[in-house]
Amino acid sequence: MHDHRRIGRDLDLFGTDPLIGAGLPFWLPDGATVRHVLEEYVRGAERRAGYRHVYSPVLGKRELYEISGHWDHYSDDMFPPMEVGGEQVVLRPSLCPHHALIYRSRGRSYRELPLRIAELGGMYRSELSGVLGGLTRVRAIQLNDAHIFCTLDQVADEAHAALEMIRDAYAALGITAARYRLSLPGPGGKYVADPEKWRRATALLTAVLDRSGVPCEAAEGEAAFYGPKIDVQVSDQAGRESTLSTVQVDFHQPERFGLRYTGADGERHRPVMVHRSIIGSVERAVAQLIEEHGGAFPAWLAPTQLVVLPVSDAELPEAEALARRCADAGLRAEVAGAGQGSLGARIRDARLVPYQAVIGAREAARGLVALRLRDGRRLDPRPAGEITDRIRALVAAHRTALWDPADAPF
Ligand SMILES: [Zn+2]
Repeated sequence: MHDHRRIGRDLDLFGTDPLIGAGLPFWLPDGATVRHVLEEYVRGAERRAGYRHVYSPVLGKRELYEISGHWDHYSDDMFPPMEVGGEQVVLRPSLCPHHALIYRSRGRSYRELPLRIAELGGMYRSELSGVLGGLTRVRAIQLNDAHIFCTLDQVADEAHAALEMIRDAYAALGITAARYRLSLPGPGGKYVADPEKWRRATALLTAVLDRSGVPCEAAEGEAAFYGPKIDVQVSDQAGRESTLSTVQVDFHQPERFGLRYTGADGERHRPVMVHRSIIGSVERAVAQLIEEHGGAFPAWLAPTQLVVLPVSDAELPEAEALARRCADAGLRAEVAGAGQGSLGARIRDARLVPYQAVIGAREAARGLVALRLRDGRRLDPRPAGEITDRIRALVAAHRTALWDPADAPF
């Protein structure tokens, strides 16, 4: 594996400036492209799975986090409050309280459940300067988050479906899970005290893991302060493990916020909150993608998907026409003309680009393109339209394969 900080610098994906501050990276155009495509993938997967997207502010009153329990159990990781107009507001350490209030913003019926509220939203963590680095430890976090408000009977299916979404996402992203972890509370005062709620939530998650058939290790002292969780762990290039994805069952916050729904019996009941994140924070997910792929992103995520290489200036019009055709097909293409060096040098420069389309005099005369794949395979010259159609289909399907194996031989 590779160090994402070095590759991020070499490929102009992201950067930092001491004047902005430690743990506050900015995204350069190519990095921003990867992030945007990743975010759109997640939103699309969530829409198909019945999630509704919301926006909520990154600030909230201190009182909000006193109610949620963050103030008592999580304040070491929070930025200090700011005084505004006689009130104290804080940068939010999580999205859960805002989503609980969105749920509570009107009466709810059992017919609306499960209600799946999703947001790719900002949150903040006052990490110490010493541990900050690259995209893996940051103070401003963009979290792929969702909260499912449901009945007790619905929890297992919702948590199971979230695990399936995580599995699908890892396949599309080419990310390998190091292990699944059942994160339980440990000794000490970090956790809300209610043994019966912990027992029920843990039993639910254990049943979900059994049903999914994924091997899993229990770890004490890794739970959220409000409940146990299933964490999907990944390893970085130094072999350090961190949590990318998570599924959590929470009986605590629905009670703290007085959440209710009207049941089929006409009575008022308490919903359960399932917290889940498919790719975790966008920052950590992109760091993981960079390290696992060494900057050679799957084609659907690559900042430049296809580079057009005219052999000489004579083929420049055909090269530019192909790049326009790609852009019209929604692909990200660039022309690297003869002025940028020999064909061999330009192919080397584009070694991380999934597709390299070479157009020489022979191809130009016949309206064809000779396609080279990043892994070294070469395809026989074929019409430009066929190439753009095939690449567009692979990209739309979020495939990690560069070309369909059915299309061999090369
Ligand atoms: Zn949450």
